[in-house]
Amino acid sequence: ARDRGGNQVALYESSIDHTASRRLDVEQALRRALERDEFVLFYQPIHNIADGSLKGVEALVRWIRPEHGMVPPDEFIPVAERTGLIVPLGAWVLDEALRQLSVWTRSGSVPADFHVSVNLSPVQLSDPTLVDTIKRALAEHHLEASHLTLEMTETALIEDRSRMQKTVTALAEAGASLSIDDFGTGYSSLAYLRYLPAKELKVDRSFVAGLTTNPRDAALVAAVIGLAHEFGMICVAEGVETAEQLERLRHLGCDLAQGYFLGRPVPADELTQAWQVQRDN
Ligand code: C2E
Ligand code: CA
Ligand code: CA
Ligand code: CA
Repeated sequence: ARDRGGNQVALYESSIDHTASRRLDVEQALRRALERDEFVLFYQPIHNIADGSLKGVEALVRWIRPEHGMVPPDEFIPVAERTGLIVPLGAWVLDEALRQLSVWTRSGSVPADFHVSVNLSPVQLSDPTLVDTIKRALAEHHLEASHLTLEMTETALIEDRSRMQKTVTALAEAGASLSIDDFGTGYSSLAYLRYLPAKELKVDRSFVAGLTTNPRDAALVAAVIGLAHEFGMICVAEGVETAEQLERLRHLGCDLAQGYFLGRPVPADELTQAWQVQRDN
């Protein structure tokens, strides 16, 4: 699995002997979890590097599994993708993120040009009902599509590129911003730039991690920022963990940043409170 940080080990990969039965366990548990509303969204702030202002949040799903605690997405998104459960789960994520955005917007908690970023699995992108699902959710919450950023990665799961391209173009025409996630990893390649009408490139956090210590990573990050700007796109650095990394990104002209240094993913209420405290000071 991609991007698994630290010592997290996926449930279904922890033992080769048990792979199939564990996967079935997780699948059944996921099905029940959807019925029982066991998912929550955490939100991680995204800031403008030049002036520090808040530009948006990325919605990140968590599964609060009874008797297990909080399960990170890397442990269940791949199962949800393989079983098709990502379609109803993804629809829930979209609806919940837009519901929260409308709460923040109506209470004046966020700036007028605030964006919420939602991750789309390639499986969702090959679902013909996706565009309608998104349009309906926007209408239901009385939101303009311009406040929604859709993050996508490339994976081997995509068999029908032309259908995906059609879906993605329809989403862009509906007014949503497209973002290419994990750029520079095997999952998001240069080829994407040729046919996706994307507004944003997210530099994968594996490159940001070595930014201040590894000259090769620094060169890669600089190249991705240059590439984004060459294509008229915004560049977002993810996984920013230190002041030094942020400073280096500022020097390199990167537009936006996200990472533990700026804020960990937290429940919506925690962000609302933090913003309130900032306004009061
Ligand atoms: P991603 O889209 O690349 O999301 C960024 C991941 O990096 C998040 O992990 C976030 O918590 C983590 N992160 C953020 N800042 C830092 C940092 O400074 N240092 C480090 N080490 N990590 C940082 P998370 O929340 O565990 O999500 C993992 C992946 O699961 C996401 O990677 C995304 O691919 C997927 N995912 C999460 N939510 C959804 C969803 O609603 N739908 C879909 N399809 N995929 C999702
Ligand atoms: Ca990732
Ligand atoms: Ca993402
Ligand atoms: Ca990413």
